[in-house]
Amino acid sequence: MEAKVTFDVDRCKGCGLCASVCPKQIVALDETVTNRKGYHPAGVTDISKCIACASCAKICPDSIITVEKF
Ligand code: SF4
Ligand code: SF4
Repeated sequence: MEAKVTFDVDRCKGCGLCASVCPKQIVALDETVTNRKGYHPAGVTDISKCIACASCAKICPDSIITVEKF
């Protein structure tokens, strides 16, 4: 199975909730990036480990994460 996780980066407020619930610990705030709102946005560090559980997408208060599996 392959997974794809997409973040609407400019709408992320950097709250870190998605990172806190990922069972594979592959979601992190990217401190090398500052988005339009002035936050470090979340992203996936190693997509090959993603199990497409969608926990990150479900917990995001602003619903900016999309999880797809193929
Ligand atoms: S779908 Fe699940 S495993 Fe994949 S990044 Fe989100 S929380 Fe982590
Ligand atoms: S839960 Fe949503 S708003 Fe919060 S850091 Fe993750 S993607 Fe950004």
